[in-house]
Amino acid sequence: MTDGKRKSPQKEANRLSNLLRQVLGEDRFPVDVEALAREVSRNNEDPIGKIGGGELPGVEGMLRPHRRRPEWHIVYNDDPRYRGRGRFTIAHEFGHYQLHRPLLSSKDYATGSLMRDCDFQCKPLRPGAWQEAERQREEEADTFASYLLMPLDDYRAQLNGDEMSVGLLNHVTHRYGVSLIAACRKWIDFTENRAAMIVARDGFAKWGRASKSALKSGIFVRSGMPIPDNALVTNGDWGSGFVSETPVQRPDGIWNFSGGSEPVRELAMVSEFLDMSLTILQFDDAIDGREFDTEPVADCVDQFMSGSRR
Ligand SMILES: [Zn+2]
Repeated sequence: MTDGKRKSPQKEANRLSNLLRQVLGEDRFPVDVEALAREVSRNNEDPIGKIGGGELPGVEGMLRPHRRRPEWHIVYNDDPRYRGRGRFTIAHEFGHYQLHRPLLSSKDYATGSLMRDCDFQCKPLRPGAWQEAERQREEEADTFASYLLMPLDDYRAQLNGDEMSVGLLNHVTHRYGVSLIAACRKWIDFTENRAAMIVARDGFAKWGRASKSALKSGIFVRSGMPIPDNALVTNGDWGSGFVSETPVQRPDGIWNFSGGSEPVRELAMVSEFLDMSLTILQFDDAIDGREFDTEPVADCVDQFMSGSRR
């Protein structure tokens, strides 16, 4: 597709979300993305046929054309380590279908089988591992999936201005049928509060993300950043699960960012199964007026997951 025709992933997801709302009303969650993909593509010359799980070593999901007739298949990785991510992956591949696929017709099969190579093989995003065009395509499919499964207005309504807690996180992951990381990342992306999330392994951040207002106050999460000795996740032997149900008030001096150190409310969980921890930091809204230049932070929500496949 040329840039002139490029569809906005957010607009396309919102368009489909509005369709779902008209048909199903408020009772449309979690989004049945398989049924939606089939229904939306049904009248195209190259509809989506099979959608199913499979063994895809190192690959999260695929959108690939049928070899003998104009039709597309979605395959998602059903390894238990991808548990909770199937719906997001299907939505991501559906995003490629809506936004990026070449339109296939019987002409492409004139010789009896498809002669062109147009598979979408989706690996977890990794900084530097993608060409710019591929990276943009992958990010667009992620954005589409995120807005389709977790519409912003609905997510905001669930929060009702409250601080993020374990109860709320559980509520939204169930409501949208997505992983904890996906739900948390979405919240970080839209919250107006100063907040950050850090996914870590072996005492170091694998990746992280800060909200817009947190970035403005000098809170950047860099991969490779050491997790402080007094952080909740390093401060005890928790086994698995959340350390506390509600954020724990911590004094300044524990978490240090370029904007300095300040008191923070900390929520943390450990997953022995995935050999990772997740820390959510929530700061007071008051900023002392200093503004830090925001810098592009290499971000990849699933870099960490790729690392788990050893
Ligand atoms: Zn992809």
